[in-house]
Amino acid sequence: MSNDPFRLPSASRRGFLGAAAALAATGSGLPLIGPAAAKAPLSKTQPAYFYRFMLGTAEVTVVSDGPLPLGDPGTSFLGVPKETVYGMLENSFLPKDNVVLEQNIPIVNFGDRLVMFDTGMGFSKAFGPTTGRLMKSMEEAGIKAGDIDDIVCSHAHIDHIGGICTADGKPLFPNARIHISQTDFDFWTDESKLGSPLKAFIEHARANLLPVRDRIVFFKDQQEFLPGVQAIAAPGHTAGHHIFKVASAGKSFVFLGDLTHHAVLLTENPRLEFAYDSDPKQAVQSRVRLLTMLAQEKTPVMSYHFAWPGFGNLAKAGEGFRYYPAPMQLIPV
Ligand SMILES: [Zn+2]
Repeated sequence: MSNDPFRLPSASRRGFLGAAAALAATGSGLPLIGPAAAKAPLSKTQPAYFYRFMLGTAEVTVVSDGPLPLGDPGTSFLGVPKETVYGMLENSFLPKDNVVLEQNIPIVNFGDRLVMFDTGMGFSKAFGPTTGRLMKSMEEAGIKAGDIDDIVCSHAHIDHIGGICTADGKPLFPNARIHISQTDFDFWTDESKLGSPLKAFIEHARANLLPVRDRIVFFKDQQEFLPGVQAIAAPGHTAGHHIFKVASAGKSFVFLGDLTHHAVLLTENPRLEFAYDSDPKQAVQSRVRLLTMLAQEKTPVMSYHFAWPGFGNLAKAGEGFRYYPAPMQLIPV
């Protein structure tokens, strides 16, 4: 035995020298052995785009119409210097160059009725190719379009009524009644506005709402127009914009529609204005009043545009509110 701890026994030396010779023979410096265990193709896939939870005895399935990129937040969120908007995003570890809104669509199964809230962009590609996913998400969730009994629309904007009909005017939900405020229906289907800057919004509202006109039902402020679904007027974003209290067996949430579009920008500072508001000052008033009520009552919120899946709570924080997303539960209850 040698005293040299680094001297290999002769058999090991042969193995070592053999491997070194093979390595040299490749010419590349890489050993002639199989691929590394870590080498696998990137999967470039994500889970199905639905999320399910219970509300009392009702089952809620949130499905997505896909993310909606708004672009430069400095041109959409107004009323303060752009730098303030960018700073709020930076402090929340969010990108400053593009605000991306989700489109979270809750479908509530009350046991005897299936009710869907808002419908996404449909065939419009005004905000790019990532929207219009509603039918695929419903398929992933195992929900058939023909089983939807009621569609409840917060307002008649392009990203809320867009999924009701196909581009050639065929209803996608053949058995559903459509619920919306008459104020919004009248305003956004008004032919005389086709020559105005609202043209794209008017065209899309007409394409989706006029083919189902005979199945549209108008609700009123405070009316429980379906069992467990109450309308609450929240004007400003549009004149007929409403949010909805959804209740089952003593539990409830409020579907926010477009009361606030972003968990940071219009929530932490609810006095910010949004470029797509019909009446920004009135929208601020509705937002402050109703978010204050929801925070005081500790009513959970289901937000259409917050980060997926948009379910959580709001609490008062300084001059605004802080959103606390509820942990996702991925074990069925
Ligand atoms: Zn919206």
